[in-house]
Amino acid sequence: MEVYIYISLFILGLCFGSFFNVVGLRLSAGQSIHKPRSHCPKCGHVLSWYELIPVFSYIFLGGKCRNCKSHISPKYLIFELLTGILFMLSYFVFGYSGELLVSVFFVSLFVIICVSDLEYMLIEDSVIIFFLIFIIILRLIFKIPEDFITFNLHPYLETLLGGIFGFGLLFSIAIIGKKIYKQDAMGGGDIKLYGIIGLVLGFKLTFMSLFLASIIGSIIGLSLTLLRIIQKGTPIPFGPFIAVGSLIAYFIGPDLINWYLNLLFNM
Ligand SMILES: [Zn+2]
Repeated sequence: MEVYIYISLFILGLCFGSFFNVVGLRLSAGQSIHKPRSHCPKCGHVLSWYELIPVFSYIFLGGKCRNCKSHISPKYLIFELLTGILFMLSYFVFGYSGELLVSVFFVSLFVIICVSDLEYMLIEDSVIIFFLIFIIILRLIFKIPEDFITFNLHPYLETLLGGIFGFGLLFSIAIIGKKIYKQDAMGGGDIKLYGIIGLVLGFKLTFMSLFLASIIGSIIGLSLTLLRIIQKGTPIPFGPFIAVGSLIAYFIGPDLINWYLNLLFNM
C-alpha cells in the first residue's frame, strides 16, 4: 500500500514539476502560462502531447527537439525529477497528515523559484503572493508542528513570529547592505520569500534556514570563484541556497537541534 502512495506522489510530482518549469520560465519573462502552447525555443515547433510527457519524452527524444534536433536543456528533466522526489520526501517525513499538504506547497514554491532565479535572477511577485495566501490559509487550518515551536507559544503566535522574523531580518540586512555597499545587496523577492518561509518554519527553524543558506551559499560561491567557473564579484542567484537551507530545516531541523543539544550536554 505504502509503495503505491510513493509511486503516485512521484508521478504527481513529475507532472507538477513539468508545469513548474513553465510557470517559472514564462511568468518571469512576462508571458502567459497557457498561451502560446509549449514549443521549441529554437525553431518554434509546437509540441504534441507525446512530447510533453514528463521525463519519458525527454528520454524518448534523446534530449533533442524532434523538428530541428537542437539540444533541450536537461534542467527541465532535473526539475521534474526533483519535484517528484520532494513530493515523496514530504510523505516520508510527515506521513498522511495536514502537514503533507503544507509540505507539497512549500516544495512547489521552491522549485518554481529555483527555475526562475537560475534563469533570470528574479523571483516573480505574483508567485510570492499566490503562495503567501495559500500558506496563510494552510497554516490556519493545519497548525505548525509541535517540534517546530520555539518558546512554548501558541502555534498561531509561533507562525506569526516566524513570518515577522523572516521578513524583518532580511529587510534589515537589505537596508544595512545598501547603506554599506551603496547597491541592492538582496532582491525584494528574497525578502518577501523569507516572510513565507517564516510562516511555515516558525522562529527557530527560520533562523536555522538562513544560517544554512548563508553557509552553503558562501561555500559554493567561494568554490566557483576559486575554480574560476565564475569571476570574482559576479552576482549569484541566492534563491537555490535559500531553498536548500529551508528544506533541510523543514525536513530534519528539529532532529538536527536535538542532535546538537545532545552533543553539547554529553561533552
Ligand atoms: Zn526545434
